[in-house]
Amino acid sequence: MSRSSYDFIVVGAGAAGLQLVLSILEEEFFSESTILIIDKSPKKENDRTWSFWEKGMGPYDSIIHKSWSKGLFHSSKRSIDLNMGEYLYKTLRAVDFYQYAKGIIGEHDRVDWLQSEVELAGSDGTVIASGKEYKGNWIFDSRIPEEYHTDTDSVKLLQHFLGWVIEFEDKVFDTDMFTMMDFRDRMPGTCSFMYILPFGPRKGLVEFTFFNETLIKKEEYEEYLTRYLSKYYPGRNYRIIEKEVGIIPMTTYKFNRHHDGKLIKIGTAGGWVKPSSGYSFKISQRFISRVIDNLKRGKSPQKGVAKGKNRFYDSIFLGILEDQNDKGEELFDNMYSKLPADLIFKFLDEETSVAEDIRIMSKYANATFTRAFFRQLFS
Ligand SMILES: Cc1cc2nc3c(=O)[nH]c(=O)nc-3n(C[C@H](O)[C@H](O)[C@H](O)COP(=O)(O)OP(=O)(O)OC[C@H]3O[C@@H](n4cnc5c(N)ncnc54)[C@H](O)[C@@H]3O)c2cc1C
Repeated sequence: MSRSSYDFIVVGAGAAGLQLVLSILEEEFFSESTILIIDKSPKKENDRTWSFWEKGMGPYDSIIHKSWSKGLFHSSKRSIDLNMGEYLYKTLRAVDFYQYAKGIIGEHDRVDWLQSEVELAGSDGTVIASGKEYKGNWIFDSRIPEEYHTDTDSVKLLQHFLGWVIEFEDKVFDTDMFTMMDFRDRMPGTCSFMYILPFGPRKGLVEFTFFNETLIKKEEYEEYLTRYLSKYYPGRNYRIIEKEVGIIPMTTYKFNRHHDGKLIKIGTAGGWVKPSSGYSFKISQRFISRVIDNLKRGKSPQKGVAKGKNRFYDSIFLGILEDQNDKGEELFDNMYSKLPADLIFKFLDEETSVAEDIRIMSKYANATFTRAFFRQLFS
């Protein structure tokens, strides 16, 4: 690595950083641009599984682990077959994505990869990693700002979960059908549910998930997982192959206040996690295409990346979950029983028209929703 100054420095080779680099490499406009990627990790582990819905074919279909055209939702009141329309629900193992991205990056001499911990990234385009200084025309930084952790003004819920990839002795799973949410055995007083991705007839991911403020002990998630498996797959023996834990911010915190000069925050640190769903992998592609478009037009990369109306809807939703976490099941039951899943997916992807937004909101014309709506409107 001989260079010390680059067109783009990308701090963090995760979902956001690598997808951004791949998009830059695809563009003829940037065919001469130099890129430095810095990550403290070698990115060789399968540190997570990304799932997302997508209409038809997508950019990562060649490395998709499994996809489903059918989905289920369970509440204590009913079970619903999700009407997913043209959407497929897809799962990608992070390690497959890292390998795929490294393969493409390796074909370009103008991209350097440095395994190092970034100590400083400044608005003037300076990055310091392992005591060495680098300069970038733009820095894309996926480190979560310290201020987020100490902020007390925003709604700060967490999507937190512990999951097991299990293998049954017998063929147990319906491999065509994933379970988006199963509220039938939730922790009382909380918005908590089981999430199930069957990878094969024997093998699948079973994850106990919360949308709330409070983390619980590992043993408590495990107790729910064990009980669920013995209740809904009685007498079936299984072994645990892998474990996944995660904490994802679901927050109204304004991450975009940390863009500063040449320093642009991306990914979770840039507010690219959809606050009301915790999903980010797919929606990041839309943010990235705006960043690319801005760069090509000579504008500041982050311009117009966050849409106001969607943040408002997110804050209503988070407001309800913050004030009345117990209502989470009712909220989702309402949503999946009254609206087709493909419209919900479109809404969560922030692609709905105002007319569709009104159709969605009208299904929530109850006291809880109205209170949260006006609270956010006047906050
Ligand atoms: C377990 C888990 C499962 C998830 N599942 C889904 C899902 O199914 N669907 C979905 O849409 N979203 C999911 N998410 C949410 C979100 O998509 C991911 O968190 C996603 O990886 C966020 O992308 P990112 O680039 O912001 O962060 P990351 O992918 O975490 O990448 C950040 C990178 O920055 C590096 N880094 C951090 N600090 C430094 C430093 N000082 N110096 C150098 N490098 C540094 C890290 O090593 C890391 O590689 C999940 C999150 C988790 C934690």
